[in-house]
Amino acid sequence: MSSERFMGTLRSAVSFLLSRYWLRFTRRDRLEAWQARQLKRFLQRVLPQAQRFKGRAVTALDDLPLMDKTALMGDFAGFNTRGLSLAQVLPVARQAEASRDFNPTLGDITVGLSSGTSGNQGVFLVSTQERQRWAGILLARTVPRHLLPRLLCPWRAPLRIAFFLRANSRLYTTLSSRRIDFAFHDLTLGLSASLAQLDVQNPDVLVAPATVLRGLAEAALAGRLTISPTHILSVAEVLERDDADVVQAAFGVVPQQIYQASEGFLGYTCEKGTLHLNESHLHIEADWLDVERTRFQPIITDFSRRTQMIVRYRLNDILRVAEKPCSCGRVERAIAAVEGRVDDILWLPDLAGSQLRALYPDVLRRALLMHGTTLQEYEIHQHGLRWQINVRAAGDHADLCRALGDSLQALCRQQQLQSPLLSFGQWQAPPPHAKRRRLKLLQLPEGLPCTY
Ligand SMILES: [Zn+2]
Repeated sequence: MSSERFMGTLRSAVSFLLSRYWLRFTRRDRLEAWQARQLKRFLQRVLPQAQRFKGRAVTALDDLPLMDKTALMGDFAGFNTRGLSLAQVLPVARQAEASRDFNPTLGDITVGLSSGTSGNQGVFLVSTQERQRWAGILLARTVPRHLLPRLLCPWRAPLRIAFFLRANSRLYTTLSSRRIDFAFHDLTLGLSASLAQLDVQNPDVLVAPATVLRGLAEAALAGRLTISPTHILSVAEVLERDDADVVQAAFGVVPQQIYQASEGFLGYTCEKGTLHLNESHLHIEADWLDVERTRFQPIITDFSRRTQMIVRYRLNDILRVAEKPCSCGRVERAIAAVEGRVDDILWLPDLAGSQLRALYPDVLRRALLMHGTTLQEYEIHQHGLRWQINVRAAGDHADLCRALGDSLQALCRQQQLQSPLLSFGQWQAPPPHAKRRRLKLLQLPEGLPCTY
């Protein structure tokens, strides 16, 4: 093994051990003290290396302005410590997308594109060292105890991981090693292209977006796939209850979640099945969306980065907090669900017609789930006061649309909101690599203020 490769493995191994056994906080004050020390070091030594923050003596996080994807893209070179401009890195990312060969890098920097719509695409930079640390942390937080010997004992067969995503990245292939047999499946090729290869690998760990997990589960139930993974992880999409049920019926394993975005590794499911935020590695502020403090938009500061500065960065996600602490004892914040994106919230006027009130994705989803298997697929797009609802029915389409209309009106009455004008249509399957988004706010009703 070359010394460079050895150092890489060592770096991953150290991160793994540190995350798994040391950074496991059971007291909130200890976690916060650890974050405070890391933040201090980061603000003093790392941040000033980026042009944007040069010459600023920052002692507290609050002194820094908020940023988001638009700000990051607007001053791309200013937000990284190498001074790399978009003009330098974009060709590398575009070439990788076009050729589906995700290996090219710029020196030791991997360039990744986020899956936003084309006008709103983010570009993310990760150095080799950051990648190696990330791999260690990810494995520490996601490999269950029963698979640890496969990862750690040289005399056992390597751990087999099958990974489905829209785009691969050097980030993910970092996981590939002598202890890990890592297979990437390109979602742009469609699911059936992967089935034979998947059968041959017979993965221990299956990682895929929720809709793909469901597709694979249906293939297994139909006898077209014979794999038997013992650990299943959902990524990149909201994991809905009925997807989880089908996956469990097919493989006998309850799917867990990784909350991973281009912006960082944000959360993981613990052994009790609770999603925790990855607060040992990220500082996460809550920007509350409601007065009851049940939902928030996370504002993240990644104090372990050295290349691209993600500092008080507002994510577009809505997180719903768990009602009680998790019984595993970890104090990293427990999340009941990643509900979706902020523009998955639909808005309707209250009964007085004086303001718009939020209808949160999980409230709407629960109302629709009552229709059970007669409602196979749906999407709702809001244009002002009109909702376009496209559905696929198991039985009669018109009957289902009538029933849906009734339950949406009942929901609005219960939430004390005015009903929208409903139009129904046929649901069309999106291309296989598209992210599932059932709810979409395209245009707010005009002339009224929004009140959460
Ligand atoms: Zn837990």
